[in-house]
Amino acid sequence: MKASNMLYCNELTKVYVTGGGFSRSRLVAVNKASFSLSAQRPEILTLAGESGSGKTTVSKLILGFEEPTSGTILYKGRLVSSLRKRQERLNFMREVQPVFQNPFETFNPLRTVDRYLFDTEANFNGTASRLGRQAAVEEALEMVGLSLQEVKGRYPSEMSGGQLQRISLARSLITHPTLLVADEPVSMIDASLRMSVVNLFRELKQQSGVSVIYITHDLATAYYVSDRIAVMLRGCIVEMGTVEQVLETPLHPYTQILKESVPVPDPDNQWEGEIELTDLEVREYNRRGCRFAGRCPEVMEICRKAEPLSKAIAGRSVMCHLY
Ligand code: SF4
Repeated sequence: MKASNMLYCNELTKVYVTGGGFSRSRLVAVNKASFSLSAQRPEILTLAGESGSGKTTVSKLILGFEEPTSGTILYKGRLVSSLRKRQERLNFMREVQPVFQNPFETFNPLRTVDRYLFDTEANFNGTASRLGRQAAVEEALEMVGLSLQEVKGRYPSEMSGGQLQRISLARSLITHPTLLVADEPVSMIDASLRMSVVNLFRELKQQSGVSVIYITHDLATAYYVSDRIAVMLRGCIVEMGTVEQVLETPLHPYTQILKESVPVPDPDNQWEGEIELTDLEVREYNRRGCRFAGRCPEVMEICRKAEPLSKAIAGRSVMCHLY
């Protein structure tokens, strides 16, 4: 790990074992995934892939919700799994904030949304005075284009999905995070409002220096918002590089197929549509050799026998026997 890394994931692996006896099966949900984020330069890194690619599992591992089976995750040089003391956990939770998929599940329907914001300020930052809490909440709401007046006394059911996701984001920002881990944050939001939420990530990066791990199956918003992209297939990062490199001239056959599904942007760069990809076959996870061999138009004999290694090609990493 370089001293300049804020987050460093090395050979991250997560294996789930289900059933018992003869029906026991092993699923490698994340397979030796490695990537890092710089501490000096905020960036938006997208983890992209179809349903079941392992991207959500990676987010849970980074947030410390689950422990890796092997491999390491270092945040500012410390092993995330070793942060066990209450104060260490609290500091980590302050700095690394999740943004969840469904904002309606983030909030209790029986509590007004402003209560959440005030409580977050009190619990994480220990602000005792009402005026102090109010100033902090106002500031966080302003960062997402809302005001306390607009949300005060309102219940989640009185807000749109887009508004509620903004409030959820404001709640994350109250702790002044350095990293947001956003798992499909716009998939439950009206298509017309998606770009406004995704744009907030760019603004937060540029204006507040917040880095974002953006997890999505939607390559359109990924192209629009990311600096780098890691394309995941059955737990493996098969191609990673700048978003322009990977999505404009993809090298991995799987990325090439994904790219064909990306809609054309309109003149204002406002992407429309969403990529819905085919259902996974669980057996692809446990396939010998390359996990894409069953669907790859370029498959070769070696692909069915040996797992390809990740290689540095043309400024990006590619995991494929073609290279
Ligand atoms: Fe296709 Fe072989 Fe490359 Fe896998 S390793 S993507 S099967 S060419």
